[in-house]
Amino acid sequence: MSAPAAVERLLPTVIDRASRGFFDEAAEGRLSVLTCTSCGRRIHLPRPRCVYCGATGPVWQPVARTGTVYAHTVVEHQVHPLFPVPYTVVVVDVDGEEAGVRMIGNLPGRVDVRAGTPVVCDFEDLGHDAHGNPVVLPVWRVDTEHAAAAPSGQDQ
Ligand SMILES: [Zn+2]
Repeated sequence: MSAPAAVERLLPTVIDRASRGFFDEAAEGRLSVLTCTSCGRRIHLPRPRCVYCGATGPVWQPVARTGTVYAHTVVEHQVHPLFPVPYTVVVVDVDGEEAGVRMIGNLPGRVDVRAGTPVVCDFEDLGHDAHGNPVVLPVWRVDTEHAAAAPSGQDQ
């Protein structure tokens, strides 16, 4: 009997009808959000039609790969073996977007962040899923280059 395979990452489903475009864009190195071709507003989270004007056929358009932390929490209680604790969950306001374009990030460990901490999005190549689709995950990290200028002490 062979030893069990090493614990690997839990891959996201990249072929879901609503979010496939997000992962296709990530595989090309772009952080993108659905955008209405009629009124131009962002549709986030993804939906088949614009929530503002009702138009169909929204398209994926790149947004800034930078943002600021809106809120965060540190998870100390492990609920899944592939998500070792502690880890820090952040809600990110994407730079240059109106309210409503917020993304969730997962940073390993207890990360020193607060509202306003600048973050930047990188892309982690996780290989391919069982069907051969590329799996590239946008991952947020503290933008250490700009973190010194961030506001401090507002949420402590
Ligand atoms: Zn619209």
